[in-house]
This record gives sequence, structure tokens and C-alpha cells, in this order.
Amino acid sequence: MWKKVLIANRGEIAVRIIHACREAGLQSVTVYSTADRNALHAEIADESVCIGPPSVQESYLNQNALIAACQNTGAQALHPGFGFLSESAEFARLCEENGIVFIGPSPESIAMLGDKARAKETMKKAGVSVVPGSDGAVPSVEAAKKIAAEIGYPVLVKASAGGGGRGIRRVDNEAQLEEQMLVAKEEARRFFGNDEVYLEKLIIEPHHVEIQIIADRMGNTVALGERDCSMQRRNQKVIEESPSPLMTPELRRAMQEAAVRAAKACGYYNAGTIEFLVDDDRNFYFMEMNTRIQVEHPVTEWVTGIDLVQTQLAVAQGQPLLFTQDDIQVRGHAIECRINAEDPDHDFRPSPGTIRSLHIPSGPGVRVDSAMYQGYTIPPYYDSMIAKLIVHAPTRAQAIMKMRWALSEFIVDGIDSNIDFQLQLIKNKAFEAGTYDNTFLEHFLSEEKKNG
Ligand code: ADP
Ligand code: ADP
Ligand code: MG
Repeated sequence: MWKKVLIANRGEIAVRIIHACREAGLQSVTVYSTADRNALHAEIADESVCIGPPSVQESYLNQNALIAACQNTGAQALHPGFGFLSESAEFARLCEENGIVFIGPSPESIAMLGDKARAKETMKKAGVSVVPGSDGAVPSVEAAKKIAAEIGYPVLVKASAGGGGRGIRRVDNEAQLEEQMLVAKEEARRFFGNDEVYLEKLIIEPHHVEIQIIADRMGNTVALGERDCSMQRRNQKVIEESPSPLMTPELRRAMQEAAVRAAKACGYYNAGTIEFLVDDDRNFYFMEMNTRIQVEHPVTEWVTGIDLVQTQLAVAQGQPLLFTQDDIQVRGHAIECRINAEDPDHDFRPSPGTIRSLHIPSGPGVRVDSAMYQGYTIPPYYDSMIAKLIVHAPTRAQAIMKMRWALSEFIVDGIDSNIDFQLQLIKNKAFEAGTYDNTFLEHFLSEEKKNG
């Protein structure tokens, strides 16, 4: 049994993991860049270590500095959070080689699932339906033309190593294919250092519905219901909710069963999420598996009553899950709004700066995961998400009402934020009716632009 965990992340997720460590009786060590000297995660951990200058390459992505920080502080395990090194098989392996427990799946699972084209092949073999597309990566423009003609336009060119909504390009006809493929490859090379791409049929007006799973090292794998993440801007999630407005008991059973099969097919352990696209006829298709804790994990925690981060720590200690599939019930409705330091009136440009005054909403069924405090200066170097506002109520309509007052009481002065924009979305008829799909937000924004 280990007693000390190094948290290789920053912001609200680092704070969230510190809290889980405290409740599990574990010591926490955080790391920070020189730009994060005054950051909350550096202030409140049991110990904190400076690992480098602001640039992520030299700090939060600096693998050797992180291993050295574990060795110098005696941390025996490492939690990677999300983003940064959380999906690096190389780093998970480096931890193992240095006798540090990586709190996540095996390096082999991360490598296999991180190659999105290869992951789809594995899922197909396991009998999970996947989005129609190329068998693995496409070697050339000629090959892509042939495959696209077979599956039918429109298609998407997607980066095999992609993440965070990057490296995805829509192609409506053969004339656009070569150019869009080059653009996707270039973006993939720049962001992921790997320009391999694959093709997928564009699913028209789909819903993004994902299944959370958790598995122990003995092979027990449990599905924890779904999250609907169809409210997206540029393929990035903006609002998430559970249950999905389009869920039925039959669909949930089928999707959970497929998700567990998918996880078992790759010997998966720890927390993971299987992302599916669901069409109007409620057919669902595997898209990718995220091999880490996700931003939107609190909505699942709220409807299932299971603390996902504590469960991650427990299974990484080698403990068995304390619940089975039959114990899991989805109760009530949870919604999360991502609060970003950005200006919706200027194409959502990031808005770093000092928080002059702050009021964080609270009350029954309201949770805010954040690393903000009054007087805190948001540095310009990192992700613009500064908080997550999550509500829980017995019904969806009540959760929406709660989210409305919580958003209107949320005050962050000194910087621009998307709080008012989120309120507009929550009040929108399509959100209220639960009829929105993945294309809703882009349409909403182009309508707004037209109307000035
Ligand atoms: P989630 O489903 O958890 O919301 P996201 O894809 O939005 O997942 O990613 C969570 C965080 O990780 C975001 O800050 C995103 O920018 C970052 N991220 C995701 N994938 C990558 C990647 N391959 N490289 C760098 N950052 C990534
Ligand atoms: P990332 O690794 O960047 O998260 P995903 O493969 O999960 O990439 O896709 C991100 C988003 O892009 C999805 O949630 C969905 O909105 C959209 N998308 C991806 N593939 C398709 C597809 N074949 N058809 C329609 N939309 C898609
Ligand atoms: Mg995804």
C-alpha cells in the first residue's frame, strides 16, 4: 500500500484529486510551473514542487522532472488528471520503469486506444459497432478517394492520434478531399507529432453519448450510466448531462453492455470512457475510448453516488471494486456547464487576467469544481477552463431551473467569461426540450452572427 500521490496536473482537476487523496488518507504532492506559484493546487497540497518555467513542454509535460519530483518527495504513485500526460503510454511506461504506480490503465491499453484507427479495429473484432469508415489509417489520397466513394460523402478526415477536437476535417465531395486531407495531416503533425489520418462517414445530426466505466485489476468492469455531451463548439464539449435526454432503458442496457465488452476486449483497468455517436433511430457507433478521468466526471458521480477519483485510487492500490453492475442505479438528473475565461463576443478568445471579485454559487444540489479565488491571476499559458458548475435535482426540468439560478448568481469580475453565454444556452428552447444534437450550437452561433 502506498501513502503518497504526486498529481501531475494543475487547475480544478488537481484540486479535485487533492480532495480525494485527503478523504482516502493519502498524502498529496503537487507540481507547479513558475507561472503557477500562486495557484490553488500549489497552495493547498501537503507538499508542492516547482518543476519548470511556464511553457508546458518544460513543466507539466516534462516527464523527467515529474519522475524526479516523485523520487525527491517519496511519492509512490502518480495521478495524471486529464490533458497533459494523461494519455501518454510512453509516460505511463516511464512511471512503471521507475517503480511509480501510474493511476490509470496499462501503457499497453493507452497505446492501443490512443491510436484511434487501431482502436476501431479492435472494437469491431469485439463485436462493437463502429462508425463506418476506413479500415485503419489511409495510406494515400488515392486510397482515401476510393474508400470515401465506397462509404459515401460527406466524410470526416480524422487524426489517428487526435484529441481535444483537433485534427478533424469535413469533406463534402471528392474535389475537396485532397486539400482537407493535407490540412488535417498538417494539424495532426503540429499538435500530435503524428500525421496519420483515417476516414469516417459523417453521421448526420448525431448525439454524442458516452459511457463511463470503471474496472479493477481482477477484471471486474462496471458501467456507470451515460453522459450526453452533444452541446459542442468546434467538436469541444460545452455542457454535459446525465441521463441523456434521448436515453431509454433498452438503449442504456445495450450501450453499457457494449462499453463493458469494449473495455474487456483490451484488458482495461481503472476509469475510462467509451464515446459513441447515436443517430436519430438510436443506432449507436463506437467513436473512441478516453483512457483517463474526464472533465465531465462529476455528473456521473452525482447520478450514481460513486466517487470516481477515489475509486481510481482504490483500484490503483490493487483493491477490488466494492460494487457490482446490479448495485448501480441512475438517480435524478445532473448537468455540468464548463466555465471558461473567454470572450463569447469575440470568437471566444481567451481572457486571462486577475479576478477582482468572485462569487461562487452554492446551495442544495450545487457543486463547483474550481481553482479560482479572489485576487487570483489566470495565467495565459494554459487551458481557459476555470470552473465547472454542476447541479443535481430529481428531474431534468428541476436541474435546469437550478442551473439557471446558479449561473445567474455566479460572478467572476476582472476577466471575460462565458457565464452569460451558458445561461443563454440553458434557457434555449432546444436545450429545454432536450432535442438538441451535436450540430445545435454551431447553428445557434451562426444565427446569432447573422442577426448581429
Ligand atoms: P473530455 O472528454 O474530458 O472533455 P477533452 O477532449 O475535452 O476531453 O479533453 C480534456 C482536456 O484535455 C482539454 O483541456 C483538452 O484540451 C485536453 N486534451 C485532450 N486531448 C488532448 C491531446 N491529445 N493533446 C493535448 N491536450 C488534449
Ligand atoms: P477527439 O479525440 O478530438 O475527442 P472524437 O473522435 O471524439 O475526437 O470526435 C469529437 C467530436 O467530433 C464528436 O463528439 C462529434 O461531435 C464529432 N464527430 C466525430 N466523428 C464524427 C462523425 N463520424 N460524424 C459526426 N460527428 C463526428
Ligand atoms: Mg472524443
